[in-house]
Amino acid sequence: MNKKTDSSTLREDSKVVVSGRDPHRYGGMVNPPVYHVSTVLSETFEQLNSTDNIEDSGTQKMTYGRMGTPTSWALENAVAELEGGHRSLAFSSGLGAITGALLAFLKAGDHLLMTDSVYAPTRRFCNSLLKRFGVETTYYDPLIGADIRSMLRPNTTVVFTESPGSHTFEVQDIPAIAEIARRHGSKVLMDNTWASPLFFKPFEHGVDVSIQAGTKYIVGHSDVMLGTVTATKEAWPELRHCTWHLGQCAGPDDLYLAQRGLRTMSVRLRQHQASALLIAEWLQTRPEVRQVLYPALPGAPGHEIWKRDFLGASGLFAFELESCTEKAVASMLDGMRLFGMGYSWGGYESLLIPENVKKLRTAVPWRFEGPLLRIHIGLEDVEDLKDDLMDGLERLRNFRG
Ligand SMILES: *Cc1c(COP(=O)(O)O)cnc(C)c1O
Repeated sequence: MNKKTDSSTLREDSKVVVSGRDPHRYGGMVNPPVYHVSTVLSETFEQLNSTDNIEDSGTQKMTYGRMGTPTSWALENAVAELEGGHRSLAFSSGLGAITGALLAFLKAGDHLLMTDSVYAPTRRFCNSLLKRFGVETTYYDPLIGADIRSMLRPNTTVVFTESPGSHTFEVQDIPAIAEIARRHGSKVLMDNTWASPLFFKPFEHGVDVSIQAGTKYIVGHSDVMLGTVTATKEAWPELRHCTWHLGQCAGPDDLYLAQRGLRTMSVRLRQHQASALLIAEWLQTRPEVRQVLYPALPGAPGHEIWKRDFLGASGLFAFELESCTEKAVASMLDGMRLFGMGYSWGGYESLLIPENVKKLRTAVPWRFEGPLLRIHIGLEDVEDLKDDLMDGLERLRNFRG
């Protein structure tokens, strides 16, 4: 960015490079400096007292490390612009961002509608802490669409969505849910991690608050925990104040690494998507595989809504195996060369884990017969990934135990 560029007129790949950066404020350095700071000194008594209402005037001015620094704004402003919201806040993890967003819009006596397909730790938060503070959670069928109407109560203040669900990949009809929920006066929150800020634009589909586990594709290198929450202008003050009260913030080095990861996110995602589609198509032809749950795959569950609402697909999906024993699955997973067995995803490396969420679900009967495996397609050569999976599926098929 040479002169002050108005990045709002740019195309997406340019925005990823430009947004949130202001090199000539910092001696021309391409990347924002990493501010390690708690105390910020004022030069005069008057200046010290004038910092009180900074947030109301909308300026980003340093008052104290926890309240935001040029390092946090570089990331937050970029994410807000890419998601299409008013402003963003960075949190110390994706789960911290989710719980911070829920707490901002709920109070004792409220009712929360939560998708049954939600990320499991979000569910645990609702069933433990929110319950303790007098918020009642009802889980709904992720495929409910406009029928969400029948579940709304006078005290339903939040409808929480996650699309596709990061365990079983149900694609939600976000515009239909959002329209009805908002008409009712409820806030619509969305965990938008799967699509990243690039492949789903939550605010164009009626969402009030969008959450990213930045740990995944924004960071992109499996080395940082980070979350973001982005809000509309109307929802921003509640989010901002609650986050202040909670004392939530992210560390400067993590913020820096996240904004650095963001700059290459669109090229990484293009490769994740291309390789994931090839692997998904190939898995579909294998006799050991009953179905592939990748919304970008024609014929897969949710493909039509994905095609209507999303701009792309990331590298995470699941597939259902034909019925087999747990030991057979273990023989497959234990011998993988490139696919690591570990939680999280969105880094450059491939992962493969069993999906054990069946006993958590309460809203709808479990739709699968065989074991589910969740796969993250990384940036390795796709033929090597295929070879590794082929060997693994053969171990599974030939397992005698
Ligand atoms: C990983 C993940 C989170 C939580 O992010 P952390 O940074 O690990 O706390 C939230 N939502 C989804 C969909 C995730 O995959």
